[in-house]
Amino acid sequence: MTASPLVRDLLRMLEPDGVLCEPEDLLVYECDGLALFRATPEAVVLPRSTEQVAGVVRFCAARGVPIVARGAGTGLSGGATPAPGGIVLELARMNRILDVDAEDRTAHVETGLVNADLSAAVRSKGLFYAPDPSSQFASTIGGNVAENSGGPHGFKYGQTVRHVLGLTVVLNDGSVARIGGPNAENPGYDLVGVFVGSEGTFGIATEAWLRLTPIPPFVETLLFSFRSLLDGCRAVSEMVAAGVEAAALEMLDDRTIAAIEASVYAAGYPKEVGAVLLVELDGTREEVEAQAREARSIAKRCGALATSEAVEEAERARLWKGRKSAFGAMGRIAPDLYVQDAVVPRSRIAEVLAKIGAIADRHRLRLANVFHAGDGNLHPNLSYDARDADEVRRVLQAGEEMLRACVEAGGSLSGEHGIGLEKRDFMGLLFTEADLEAMGRVRRAFDPQGVFNPGKVLPLRACRERVPAPAEEPVAP
Ligand SMILES: Cc1cc2nc3c(=O)[nH]c(=O)nc-3n(C[C@H](O)[C@H](O)[C@H](O)COP(=O)(O)OP(=O)(O)OC[C@H]3O[C@@H](n4cnc5c(N)ncnc54)[C@H](O)[C@@H]3O)c2cc1C
Repeated sequence: MTASPLVRDLLRMLEPDGVLCEPEDLLVYECDGLALFRATPEAVVLPRSTEQVAGVVRFCAARGVPIVARGAGTGLSGGATPAPGGIVLELARMNRILDVDAEDRTAHVETGLVNADLSAAVRSKGLFYAPDPSSQFASTIGGNVAENSGGPHGFKYGQTVRHVLGLTVVLNDGSVARIGGPNAENPGYDLVGVFVGSEGTFGIATEAWLRLTPIPPFVETLLFSFRSLLDGCRAVSEMVAAGVEAAALEMLDDRTIAAIEASVYAAGYPKEVGAVLLVELDGTREEVEAQAREARSIAKRCGALATSEAVEEAERARLWKGRKSAFGAMGRIAPDLYVQDAVVPRSRIAEVLAKIGAIADRHRLRLANVFHAGDGNLHPNLSYDARDADEVRRVLQAGEEMLRACVEAGGSLSGEHGIGLEKRDFMGLLFTEADLEAMGRVRRAFDPQGVFNPGKVLPLRACRERVPAPAEEPVAP
């Protein structure tokens, strides 16, 4: 294929294998984990250094070419969906661990590093990187930073923002700035806090200084099964109210269990139960044993049918394998999956789940729930077949109704997957026009021309973008 002028210019800045422009290569980049929205980029660039990123940004910004950063493309809100006429800038080749300071418990890394690779690399030093999205074996630090990702252990350890000390970012004019740094406290405005969660709309993060956490001396994972989700939800509320300091509180419903147990990810979860609750406790042996006693007694009071307990690492890993692979296992139900992500007050989980179930039934959709119960972070999953246009329409309609039910219950639009393209037009459910305009002003302070990830996060009126936004209607594959 003849290279376009844009591609020829990009090739002058990068190695020959650093620019992709063939249709079969671009196909892979049409969407992220939210396959309901697709667009083809002009080209994909794969830089190897901050200098190369800066050169590409300077070049594209000067020509009004939209830039969409991408880590591993595991995002579930369309954050990495390309902008028409624009490029995708994938950081995957910038995946080095630049330094580990075990004494200060920090790591300096390139942002294309895969999340789990950091914990694996520092394990021998008795440390780990706490944010653990279930995609951690694929997703990158840059994507985690951009989405402020959580994970099962976010309940105790907090989301990504609590673990980022500093960033090197390429700004919209191609300049390179350092915000924060290796130290725990930085004076002045908390620009790291502003940048984390900005979903690729403020700049490209190329390096990060991260906080590492000591591996707890003792860990126990308990699995309780319940007749119904309702019983499990009651147990979660009571455990939190009683001060059980769980590292993770994760719930799976019967359909999720069935999908996992029928798949290669089978974890030996009990069948023919309404729900299972995974509770992980960590700390000293005495602390964990005391908390486990409390958790067991609450679970029993709430009608737990059976309990499994694991202390050995291999056994704990088996119990977690099912949970962490739940989305993958749902591939058994239908070829496509829409993972919804919203938050509700913990006390209202059961009530909102009932509404969510009714919505799925009304739209004749296959629903399975797996969620971070401790945080009230729900993930209703709708299995569908993208070749069935009517089913796609019903999935989108049901997704919107579920989101509205969560917000009406005093919840929020996203717990961890971000707003992206998917929820941009629902921001008005949570924020006033004045709120959105204020956010638009912050965005324009970083990126006045709207070069970075146009059409994402904020409704277009609040962005006043000049570069093209991605397709607004879902595009059938
Ligand atoms: C099976 C599965 C399980 C998941 N479980 C969880 C979970 O438990 N918790 C959770 O929070 N999420 C989860 N996710 C969602 C997803 O993995 C996270 O949002 C993750 O952080 C995305 O990382 P990524 O590298 O794939 O980023 P991408 O999908 O490539 O990009 C995500 C966003 O970040 C921007 N971006 C990427 N890199 C950079 C950079 N260097 N600088 C600036 N912007 C950048 C992109 O433009 C885009 O807006 C899951 C996804 C899957 C498929």
